[in-house]
Amino acid sequence: MLNKIAGFRQVLMISVILFINIDLLSARPPYKHFTDFCHIGERVPGTSGHEKAGDYIIGKISNPEVDSFYTHGAWFYNIYKRFPGDNSRIGIAAHWDSDIDCPGANDGGSGVAVLLSLIDTLSLNPPPMSVDIIFFDGEDVDKAALLGSNHFASKCVDHYSFILVLDMIGDKDLQIFQEGHSVQFFPDLVDSIWRIGMDIAPAVFIPAIKYYIIDDHYSLIKYGIRAIDVIDFDYPYWDSEDDTFDKCSKESLETMYRFLLRIVYPEYIY
Ligand SMILES: [Zn+2]
Repeated sequence: MLNKIAGFRQVLMISVILFINIDLLSARPPYKHFTDFCHIGERVPGTSGHEKAGDYIIGKISNPEVDSFYTHGAWFYNIYKRFPGDNSRIGIAAHWDSDIDCPGANDGGSGVAVLLSLIDTLSLNPPPMSVDIIFFDGEDVDKAALLGSNHFASKCVDHYSFILVLDMIGDKDLQIFQEGHSVQFFPDLVDSIWRIGMDIAPAVFIPAIKYYIIDDHYSLIKYGIRAIDVIDFDYPYWDSEDDTFDKCSKESLETMYRFLLRIVYPEYIY
Protein backbone atom coordinates (compact mmCIF):
# COMPACT_ATOMS: atom_id res chain seq x y z
CA MET A 1 0.00 0.00 0.00
CA LEU A 2 2.81 2.36 0.93
CA ASN A 3 4.48 1.54 -2.35
CA LYS A 4 1.29 2.32 -4.17
CA ILE A 5 1.01 5.67 -2.44
CA ALA A 6 4.64 6.46 -3.20
CA GLY A 7 4.03 5.46 -6.82
CA PHE A 8 0.95 7.62 -7.00
CA ARG A 9 2.85 10.58 -5.52
CA GLN A 10 5.57 10.07 -8.11
CA VAL A 11 3.05 10.11 -10.95
CA LEU A 12 1.41 13.17 -9.46
CA MET A 13 4.75 14.92 -9.14
CA ILE A 14 5.70 14.08 -12.73
CA SER A 15 2.39 15.42 -13.97
CA VAL A 16 2.79 18.58 -11.91
CA ILE A 17 6.31 19.10 -13.22
CA LEU A 18 5.20 18.53 -16.80
CA PHE A 19 2.19 20.78 -16.29
CA ILE A 20 4.47 23.55 -15.10
CA ASN A 21 6.81 22.96 -18.01
CA ILE A 22 4.11 23.32 -20.61
CA ASP A 23 2.50 26.73 -20.54
CA LEU A 24 -0.90 26.22 -22.14
CA LEU A 25 -2.50 29.35 -20.82
CA SER A 26 -0.59 31.76 -23.01
CA ALA A 27 -1.85 30.19 -26.24
CA ARG A 28 -4.72 32.00 -27.89
CA PRO A 29 -7.66 29.56 -27.72
CA PRO A 30 -8.62 27.77 -30.95
CA TYR A 31 -12.15 29.17 -30.85
CA LYS A 32 -10.81 32.74 -30.82
CA HIS A 33 -8.67 32.05 -33.88
CA PHE A 34 -11.62 30.26 -35.45
CA THR A 35 -14.16 33.09 -35.10
CA ASP A 36 -11.64 35.71 -36.22
CA PHE A 37 -10.59 33.64 -39.24
CA CYS A 38 -14.20 32.84 -40.24
CA HIS A 39 -15.04 36.53 -40.00
CA ILE A 40 -12.84 37.08 -43.09
CA GLY A 41 -15.33 35.14 -45.23
CA GLU A 42 -14.65 33.04 -48.33
CA ARG A 43 -11.00 32.34 -49.16
CA VAL A 44 -11.16 31.50 -52.85
CA PRO A 45 -7.70 31.80 -54.48
CA GLY A 46 -7.37 34.96 -56.55
CA THR A 47 -9.85 36.94 -54.40
CA SER A 48 -9.29 39.58 -51.73
CA GLY A 49 -10.71 37.19 -49.09
CA HIS A 50 -7.94 34.74 -49.94
CA GLU A 51 -5.34 37.48 -49.60
CA LYS A 52 -6.75 38.62 -46.24
CA ALA A 53 -6.87 35.07 -44.90
CA GLY A 54 -3.26 34.45 -45.93
CA ASP A 55 -2.24 37.69 -44.24
CA TYR A 56 -4.15 36.64 -41.11
CA ILE A 57 -2.23 33.37 -40.80
CA ILE A 58 1.13 34.95 -41.57
CA GLY A 59 0.41 37.76 -39.10
CA LYS A 60 -0.16 35.30 -36.26
CA ILE A 61 3.18 33.50 -36.70
CA SER A 62 6.63 34.78 -35.91
CA ASN A 63 9.09 34.05 -38.72
CA PRO A 64 6.80 32.01 -40.97
CA GLU A 65 8.05 30.55 -44.24
CA VAL A 66 5.92 31.30 -47.26
CA ASP A 67 6.24 29.31 -50.47
CA SER A 68 4.30 31.04 -53.26
CA PHE A 69 3.54 29.57 -56.67
CA TYR A 70 1.41 30.55 -59.65
CA THR A 71 -0.94 28.11 -61.35
CA HIS A 72 -4.58 27.85 -62.52
CA GLY A 73 -4.60 31.66 -63.04
CA ALA A 74 -3.88 32.61 -59.42
CA TRP A 75 -1.15 32.89 -56.81
CA PHE A 76 -1.05 30.26 -54.09
CA TYR A 77 0.75 30.36 -50.76
CA ASN A 78 1.83 27.40 -48.65
CA ILE A 79 2.72 28.67 -45.20
CA TYR A 80 5.04 26.83 -42.80
CA LYS A 81 6.26 27.19 -39.27
CA ARG A 82 9.07 24.83 -38.31
CA PHE A 83 10.06 23.93 -34.75
CA PRO A 84 13.42 22.18 -34.52
CA GLY A 85 13.85 19.29 -32.11
CA ASP A 86 16.16 16.42 -31.30
CA ASN A 87 14.55 13.34 -32.72
CA SER A 88 12.47 12.59 -35.74
CA ARG A 89 10.44 15.11 -37.68
CA ILE A 90 6.66 15.10 -37.86
CA GLY A 91 4.29 17.36 -39.75
CA ILE A 92 0.81 18.55 -38.88
CA ALA A 93 -1.11 20.11 -41.76
CA ALA A 94 -4.41 21.69 -42.73
CA HIS A 95 -5.55 23.57 -45.83
CA TRP A 96 -6.54 27.21 -45.51
CA ASP A 97 -8.34 28.03 -48.79
CA SER A 98 -12.07 27.57 -49.32
CA ASP A 99 -14.23 26.48 -52.24
CA ILE A 100 -16.35 28.84 -54.36
CA ASP A 101 -19.68 29.71 -52.66
CA CYS A 102 -18.65 28.02 -49.43
CA PRO A 103 -17.48 30.00 -46.38
CA GLY A 104 -15.35 27.01 -45.38
CA ALA A 105 -15.70 27.39 -41.60
CA ASN A 106 -15.36 23.71 -40.81
CA ASP A 107 -13.78 22.88 -44.19
CA GLY A 108 -10.41 24.61 -43.84
CA GLY A 109 -11.13 27.10 -41.03
CA SER A 110 -11.28 24.58 -38.18
CA GLY A 111 -7.86 23.10 -39.00
CA VAL A 112 -6.27 26.56 -39.33
CA ALA A 113 -7.61 27.62 -35.91
CA VAL A 114 -6.30 24.58 -34.06
CA LEU A 115 -2.90 24.78 -35.78
CA LEU A 116 -2.52 28.46 -34.87
CA SER A 117 -3.15 27.66 -31.19
CA LEU A 118 -0.67 24.81 -31.43
CA ILE A 119 1.92 27.21 -32.87
CA ASP A 120 1.34 29.55 -29.90
CA THR A 121 2.04 26.66 -27.52
CA LEU A 122 5.01 25.25 -29.44
CA SER A 123 6.60 28.72 -29.55
CA LEU A 124 6.58 28.88 -25.74
CA ASN A 125 7.33 25.19 -25.08
CA PRO A 126 9.85 23.67 -27.50
CA PRO A 127 8.74 20.15 -28.48
CA PRO A 128 11.01 17.10 -28.04
CA MET A 129 10.88 16.18 -31.74
CA SER A 130 11.01 18.44 -34.80
CA VAL A 131 7.51 19.61 -35.65
CA ASP A 132 6.54 21.32 -38.90
CA ILE A 133 3.16 23.04 -38.99
CA ILE A 134 1.97 23.27 -42.57
CA PHE A 135 -0.86 25.36 -44.04
CA PHE A 136 -1.63 24.11 -47.55
CA ASP A 137 -3.27 26.38 -50.10
CA GLY A 138 -5.40 25.35 -53.09
CA GLU A 139 -6.91 22.14 -51.70
CA ASP A 140 -10.42 23.02 -52.80
CA VAL A 141 -9.62 24.34 -56.29
CA ASP A 142 -11.56 22.42 -58.98
CA LYS A 143 -13.07 20.17 -56.28
CA ALA A 144 -9.95 18.84 -54.60
CA ALA A 145 -7.09 19.59 -57.01
CA LEU A 146 -4.84 19.48 -53.90
CA LEU A 147 -2.53 22.10 -55.44
CA GLY A 148 -0.65 23.12 -52.30
CA SER A 149 0.04 19.63 -51.02
CA ASN A 150 1.12 18.47 -54.50
CA HIS A 151 3.47 21.44 -54.74
CA PHE A 152 4.87 20.68 -51.26
CA ALA A 153 5.27 16.96 -51.83
CA SER A 154 6.86 17.30 -55.29
CA LYS A 155 9.79 19.27 -53.85
CA CYS A 156 9.96 17.76 -50.36
CA VAL A 157 13.47 16.61 -49.39
CA ASP A 158 12.89 16.22 -45.64
CA HIS A 159 12.16 12.88 -44.05
CA TYR A 160 8.99 12.86 -42.00
CA SER A 161 8.08 10.08 -39.55
CA PHE A 162 4.58 11.03 -40.56
CA ILE A 163 2.38 13.98 -41.51
CA LEU A 164 -1.11 14.29 -40.04
CA VAL A 165 -3.55 16.09 -42.29
CA LEU A 166 -6.47 17.66 -40.40
CA ASP A 167 -9.68 18.70 -42.13
CA MET A 168 -13.22 19.37 -40.91
CA ILE A 169 -12.46 18.93 -37.21
CA GLY A 170 -14.81 21.54 -35.72
CA ASP A 171 -18.28 20.00 -36.21
CA LYS A 172 -20.48 20.31 -33.09
CA ASP A 173 -21.23 16.61 -33.47
CA LEU A 174 -17.61 15.53 -33.79
CA GLN A 175 -17.01 11.88 -34.74
CA ILE A 176 -13.83 10.92 -36.52
CA PHE A 177 -13.76 7.59 -38.30
CA GLN A 178 -10.57 6.22 -39.82
CA GLU A 179 -10.05 7.19 -43.46
CA GLY A 180 -9.77 4.34 -45.93
CA HIS A 181 -6.67 5.32 -47.94
CA SER A 182 -4.80 6.12 -44.73
CA VAL A 183 -5.55 2.66 -43.35
CA GLN A 184 -4.74 0.99 -46.66
CA PHE A 185 -1.23 2.50 -46.77
CA PHE A 186 -0.34 2.98 -43.08
CA PRO A 187 -2.53 0.77 -40.86
CA ASP A 188 -0.12 0.78 -37.90
CA LEU A 189 0.25 4.55 -37.95
CA VAL A 190 -3.53 5.01 -38.06
CA ASP A 191 -3.90 2.58 -35.14
CA SER A 192 -1.41 4.38 -32.95
CA ILE A 193 -2.83 7.81 -33.73
CA TRP A 194 -6.38 6.57 -33.02
CA ARG A 195 -5.22 5.06 -29.74
CA ILE A 196 -4.08 8.54 -28.68
CA GLY A 197 -7.36 10.03 -29.91
CA MET A 198 -9.48 7.45 -28.08
CA ASP A 199 -7.52 8.14 -24.92
CA ILE A 200 -8.25 11.88 -25.16
CA ALA A 201 -11.81 11.65 -26.52
CA PRO A 202 -13.27 8.12 -26.71
CA ALA A 203 -16.60 9.35 -28.05
CA VAL A 204 -14.90 11.22 -30.90
CA PHE A 205 -12.30 8.82 -32.33
CA ILE A 206 -13.94 5.71 -33.80
CA PRO A 207 -11.54 2.88 -34.78
CA ALA A 208 -13.34 1.87 -37.97
CA ILE A 209 -13.21 2.97 -41.63
CA LYS A 210 -16.23 4.87 -42.95
CA TYR A 211 -15.05 6.82 -46.03
CA TYR A 212 -12.26 6.88 -48.63
CA ILE A 213 -11.43 10.54 -49.15
CA ILE A 214 -9.24 12.44 -51.60
CA ASP A 215 -7.68 15.04 -49.33
CA ASP A 216 -4.20 16.55 -49.00
CA HIS A 217 -2.80 13.34 -47.51
CA TYR A 218 -3.46 11.70 -50.88
CA SER A 219 -0.91 13.83 -52.74
CA LEU A 220 1.64 13.31 -49.96
CA ILE A 221 1.20 9.52 -50.14
CA LYS A 222 1.63 9.71 -53.93
CA TYR A 223 5.12 11.13 -53.35
CA GLY A 224 6.05 8.52 -50.76
CA ILE A 225 5.39 10.55 -47.60
CA ARG A 226 3.76 8.70 -44.67
CA ALA A 227 0.60 10.77 -44.31
CA ILE A 228 -2.86 10.10 -42.93
CA ASP A 229 -6.09 12.08 -42.87
CA VAL A 230 -7.95 13.01 -39.69
CA ILE A 231 -11.37 14.16 -40.90
CA ASP A 232 -15.00 14.12 -39.77
CA PHE A 233 -16.79 13.72 -43.08
CA ASP A 234 -20.27 13.40 -41.54
CA TYR A 235 -21.04 17.06 -41.94
CA PRO A 236 -24.28 17.95 -43.76
CA TYR A 237 -23.07 21.49 -44.58
CA TRP A 238 -19.93 20.33 -46.42
CA ASP A 239 -19.25 22.24 -49.67
CA SER A 240 -22.28 24.50 -49.18
CA GLU A 241 -22.98 28.10 -48.24
CA ASP A 242 -24.11 26.78 -44.84
CA ASP A 243 -20.61 25.74 -43.75
CA THR A 244 -20.53 28.64 -41.29
CA PHE A 245 -18.92 29.04 -37.87
CA ASP A 246 -22.15 28.41 -35.92
CA LYS A 247 -22.13 24.75 -37.10
CA CYS A 248 -18.89 24.22 -35.19
CA SER A 249 -18.18 24.26 -31.47
CA LYS A 250 -15.59 25.52 -29.06
CA GLU A 251 -15.55 22.10 -27.37
CA SER A 252 -14.74 20.22 -30.58
CA LEU A 253 -11.86 22.56 -31.41
CA GLU A 254 -10.49 22.25 -27.88
CA THR A 255 -10.72 18.46 -28.02
CA MET A 256 -8.65 18.46 -31.20
CA TYR A 257 -6.16 20.89 -29.71
CA ARG A 258 -5.65 18.56 -26.71
CA PHE A 259 -5.28 15.62 -29.08
CA LEU A 260 -2.50 17.46 -30.93
CA LEU A 261 -0.79 18.40 -27.67
CA ARG A 262 -0.52 14.70 -26.87
CA ILE A 263 1.04 14.10 -30.30
CA VAL A 264 3.69 16.80 -29.97
CA TYR A 265 4.35 16.27 -26.24
CA PRO A 266 4.00 12.46 -25.90
CA GLU A 267 4.98 12.51 -22.20
CA TYR A 268 2.50 15.15 -21.21
CA ILE A 269 -0.06 14.01 -18.62
CA TYR A 270 -3.37 15.84 -18.44
ZN1 LIG B 1 -11.17 20.48 -46.85
